Amino acid sequence: MKIEIIPVLSDNYVFLLWDEQTKTAAVVDPAVAKPVLAKLKELDLELVAIFNTHHHSDHVGGNHKLQHAFPNVCIYGGLEDKGRIPGQKVYLQEGDQVEFSDRTASIFFIPGHTRGHISYYFPPAESDGIGELFCGDTIFAGGCGRLFEGTPAQMVDSIGKLRQLPDQTRVWCAHEYTLSNLKFAITVDADNQVLQSRLAQVKKERDRNLFTVPSLLGLEKQTNPFLRWDQPALQATATQTEPARVFGKIRGMKDLF
Ligand code: ZN
Ligand code: FE
Repeated sequence: MKIEIIPVLSDNYVFLLWDEQTKTAAVVDPAVAKPVLAKLKELDLELVAIFNTHHHSDHVGGNHKLQHAFPNVCIYGGLEDKGRIPGQKVYLQEGDQVEFSDRTASIFFIPGHTRGHISYYFPPAESDGIGELFCGDTIFAGGCGRLFEGTPAQMVDSIGKLRQLPDQTRVWCAHEYTLSNLKFAITVDADNQVLQSRLAQVKKERDRNLFTVPSLLGLEKQTNPFLRWDQPALQATATQTEPARVFGKIRGMKDLF
């Protein structure tokens, strides 16, 4: 399974998964259709699946046009998003599995950003030992999604599930927010040296207009304040120790940053 990043709108990433042998493709969170159709044409691929993480328009906006171009495409999304994802055919729940190419993804139900949010996790293929996590607007590189339809406790639960995945997991998040996320992160976890060097690195990458996605989950565990509610430094910043309170306090600070 190959993965291609298609940057769209101001800061969204659409991910194209494809299989060289069968010439089939799946797309994760197509905000818009046009650049996806162009890429499919360029690579001579047939679109067989759309994997949506949640109902926001910058994630499902291309569904209808893609379905029009590929009438047999199967559109997946969370059960709790029933009625909110255009063209949805399959309603996924925690523990369900979906197949694409020679890989099978497990579904995590991860409410918080929205109440129906899911993620798709492909365990490592034997060839390279690295897993792929498509987590929409839940974990961002260096940050997390806003709590539009959920509570800090729900988000701690949701991120807690993803945090248990192996360090060698690529985190394919849906936005290029990394630099501003890390600028905030350093204000709440100032003495974290891994974070300091990550911030310096990301500044350089963004100066050259490079994508900072995907990141590695191991690095997120070390530097992303929204995966670190049990670390003394974050607890001190939040003046709280209970996970949802630490998380909620830090998320509140980010909202005002
Ligand atoms: Zn969203
Ligand atoms: Fe989004």
